[in-house]
Amino acid sequence: MTIKHEVPSYLTQHGIGPWGDYLEQIDRVTPYLGNLARWVETMKRPKRMLIVDVPIERDDGTIAHFEGYRVQHNTSRGPGKGGVRFHQDVTLSEVMALSAWMTVKNAAVNVPYGGAKGGIRVDPKTLSQGELQRMTRRYTSEIGIIIGPNKDIPAPDVNTNEQIMAWMMDTYSMNQGSTASGVVTGKPISLGGSLGRREATGRGVFVVGCEAAVKRGLDIHGAKIAVQGFGNVGSIAARLFADAGAKVVAVQDHISTVTRSSGLDVAALQAHVQKTGSVAGFSGGEEISDRAQFWAVDCDILVPAALEQQITVENAGSIRAKIILEGANGPTSPAADDILHEKGVLVVPDVIANAGGVTVSYFEWVQDFSSFFWTEDEINLRLTRIMREAFTAVWQLAEEKKVSLRTAAFIVACTRVLQAREMRGLYP
Ligand code: GLU
Repeated sequence: MTIKHEVPSYLTQHGIGPWGDYLEQIDRVTPYLGNLARWVETMKRPKRMLIVDVPIERDDGTIAHFEGYRVQHNTSRGPGKGGVRFHQDVTLSEVMALSAWMTVKNAAVNVPYGGAKGGIRVDPKTLSQGELQRMTRRYTSEIGIIIGPNKDIPAPDVNTNEQIMAWMMDTYSMNQGSTASGVVTGKPISLGGSLGRREATGRGVFVVGCEAAVKRGLDIHGAKIAVQGFGNVGSIAARLFADAGAKVVAVQDHISTVTRSSGLDVAALQAHVQKTGSVAGFSGGEEISDRAQFWAVDCDILVPAALEQQITVENAGSIRAKIILEGANGPTSPAADDILHEKGVLVVPDVIANAGGVTVSYFEWVQDFSSFFWTEDEINLRLTRIMREAFTAVWQLAEEKKVSLRTAAFIVACTRVLQAREMRGLYP
């Protein structure tokens, strides 16, 4: 008799990594989808995944190879949309999860996109500017067969910025033979970028934070805020909360944790990080050496704005915040979600809390297509309106169905995606 060894499919890694967390989130929403549950498998299978080899010549003449990915999770409601991440821990499975969360996010705030994400497994700090440019251009050229202004539109994510987007836009345009500004968002203003895009994710976190605080009867003025990650999302959110009179009592980045119970000077901390690359050594606060202690800091609002899988069963119990605003994608594991729910902590999920970035990306794309550019006030006004409306709709549904905000956001989003799927029907 032969023994059959079951080799697990890459699609079904329940309980493993961010993709495992995402599958669990889909399982939790399925009972609320009614007849659309028939189509739910769609959410568990990325539509298209491209793995590319990215070779470059290093400055010293040697050749280096990097692994690149672009995953288009879903295109039922429109073209793929989502950022590109440069990080040494990027894997296909991580990019699958991030692309799927983009599908859910874009549908949750009702921008007319599917979901996609890309990444390169590299620590960009180990590259010179020239090497970074060559890697970005070769990656763009390799994924050029599936991206485009009407197909899939990349944007910044962890360790990518306006300069990277400019190189991506130029490379795609050179290959096409004409300038295609709508192929990426998060570009420099001078190349068809949008006012307010750089601050948009942090601003969105702040806007939904204020809404959540009202629901919890918490005054933002004087509220204590702790932020993990001091990049584009965490630093802007911290600044906006501080400007509104809140006290930023703790900030953790990949190197260190600084605290000050009377509130850190956020502008000074930003200047320090700009100069040194980290919050470490900031003279305006006290450094704590045990990273785990960050989670137990005395605060009202906690903003995880770094990477996935940070709030886990190990630390969820020690969290003292009343509200968690997920600036990062996938920072809370499903098991940790349950612990927080038990404790009465209000978790505003990533697919709502950090959707400000892609919302202004949508504005940028619309402006590029019409070659007509809006004022920053108009952008911030429209952003604030979309974020508030999305939060309120999800809040009401959560009350009605007696579910978490995450499950409610997934109900709204999966219903939109699967209705589109059903209406379009299967081809052939
Ligand atoms: N990378 C951001 C996110 O995770 C923005 C994506 C976009 O603007 O397309 O939402």
